[in-house]
Amino acid sequence: MKNGREYVDSLRKLNTKVYLFGELLEDPCEHAMLRPHVNAARLTFDLAFSPRYEDLMTAVSHLTGHKINRFTSIHQSCDDLVKKVKMLRTIAQMTGSCFQRCVGFDALNAIYTVSYEMDKALGTSYHRRFRDYLVRIQDNDLMVAGSMTDPKGDRSLPPGKQSDPDLYMRVVSEDEKGIVLRGAKAHMTGIVNSHEMLIMPTAALSPEDKAYAVACAIPVDAPGVLHIFGRQTNDERRLYGGRIDQGNAQYGIVGGEALTVLEDVFVPWENVFMCGETQYAGLLVERFASYHRQNYGGCKGGVSDVVTGAAALLAEYNGVSKVSHIKDKLIEMILLTETLYSGSLACSYEGKPTASGAYFVDPLLANVTKQNVTRYIYEIDRLAQDIAGGFIATLPSDRDLDSREVGGYVRKYFAGVSSVPVEDRMRMARLVENMTGGTALVESMHGAGSPQAQRVMLARQANLEGKKELARILAGIQKNNSETCGRGLHNFEHKGYEKEGR
Ligand code: SF4
Repeated sequence: MKNGREYVDSLRKLNTKVYLFGELLEDPCEHAMLRPHVNAARLTFDLAFSPRYEDLMTAVSHLTGHKINRFTSIHQSCDDLVKKVKMLRTIAQMTGSCFQRCVGFDALNAIYTVSYEMDKALGTSYHRRFRDYLVRIQDNDLMVAGSMTDPKGDRSLPPGKQSDPDLYMRVVSEDEKGIVLRGAKAHMTGIVNSHEMLIMPTAALSPEDKAYAVACAIPVDAPGVLHIFGRQTNDERRLYGGRIDQGNAQYGIVGGEALTVLEDVFVPWENVFMCGETQYAGLLVERFASYHRQNYGGCKGGVSDVVTGAAALLAEYNGVSKVSHIKDKLIEMILLTETLYSGSLACSYEGKPTASGAYFVDPLLANVTKQNVTRYIYEIDRLAQDIAGGFIATLPSDRDLDSREVGGYVRKYFAGVSSVPVEDRMRMARLVENMTGGTALVESMHGAGSPQAQRVMLARQANLEGKKELARILAGIQKNNSETCGRGLHNFEHKGYEKEGR
C-alpha cells in the first residue's frame, strides 16, 4: 500500500496534462486550485496506515491474499459493503468534502462482475484480463477515476445519430494490437490527481451503436489525453490564499472535476474489457450506478455531520443555542442525515452475490438513497443557513479582518457572544457558506446520476405488479377478471416481499 506522501510523489512522476484558465499547468498537484482535492484524496491513503481505521480502510485481496487499500478491493460479502459505507462516512467527517476515490472503486467492482457474466455468456476473455489489471491496481495502490458520463450533445438522439459522433466516447479503429478511442468524459471527479481511468459506456445501447460499447483502462497521462479543470463557486478565493474565506481551505468543496478529452488514444487489448457488446452496456451502467448511489448516505452523511456541527456552533456563537426552534432545526438535520445513512446501510445489508462471487448492493434501496440525497441535502443545508443567519452571505473578507484601517470595525460589528473570538465566528460562517452553497448543492443533485435516472430504476426495480397482487388478494378480487373471491385471505402462494425487486 502507498501512504499519502508516496501517493503525492507518484502523481508528480506522471505527465498529466491539466488545463486551467486556458493554460497548461506545470505542476498540477501543487496548484492552489487543485491542492485541496489532492489533500482529500491523500487522506484515503494515509488512513489505511492508521491502526484505528485499519479495519475500515483495508481489505485482503481475494486474488492475491495481500493486504490492500479498501478502495481497490472487490466486495466479498455484505460486511464489505457495510464497511465501505462506514469508511465513506468516516472520511467525509474528516474532510467535509469529496475524497474522489469511490468512483474508481465502484467502476472496479462493476466491471469485475459484468466482465465475468460476459465471458460466461459470450466466451470472451474480458474477465481474465480484468483480473490481471486489478492485481496491478491493488499491488501498486493506484487511484482510479471512474469515467462514465459522456457529453451527450442532443439528449433526444442516440450516440450514432448525433451531428458530431464524438459526443459519445467511441472506438474509431482497431487492429491486432488494440483499439483507438475518441471522445470525452464529463464531470470527471478526481481525474487530475488519479493514476488511471476506467472508461465505461454512459447508457444502454442498441446494436447499431456498437462503436460506443467500450470499457477499458487508460493512464490519465496517456498520449492524446488532456483534462480541462472545472470551476466551482468561490474557487478564486484559493488563489489569493484567503485562510478564512475559503471555508474549508484544507480539503475544498466537492471533488475537483474536469472534462477529459481523448483524441485518438491507443488502448492495448489487455486493457480492454468490453468492445462492441452492446447488450451488456446497460447492465454495466446499472451496476456502476447502484454501487455509486450506495455511497451517498455514507459520504453525504459525513458531510452533513459537519454541516450540523457547524450550525450548532454558530447557534452558540450567536447566543441562540437554547432557543427551542433552533434546537428543533438541529434535530431535523440529524433526522435527515441518519435517514440518508440508513438507506446506504440497508442496501448494503441487503446485498447479494453476483455470478462472479462479488457482492452487489440492493439496487432499489441504493437508488432510493441517492434520490433522498437530491432532496434531504437541500433541506439540511437550508436549515444550516437558517440557523447561521444572513451574515454568511455578507461577511467581509479575511483581509478586511486583518486591515489596520477597518479590521477594528470588523471585529467590533461582527461579534457574537463575547466569549467567542470574532475570527472563530467568521471561520464557522465561511464553512457553512461554502458547504451549503452553489457547487456543493449541485453535486448532491447530479452526482451519481440525476434524479430522473434514479426514478427510472425505482420503476424498474419495484415490482408494481406484485404490489397490485397484494392489494387484489386483500380486497378479495380474482386475478384474471374482476370477480371477487369472496374473502380477503391470502392463499400464501404469492411471493410478495420475498420476490427479487419486491
Ligand atoms: Fe465518494 Fe461521495 Fe465523492 Fe462520490 S461524492 S466520489 S461517493 S466522496
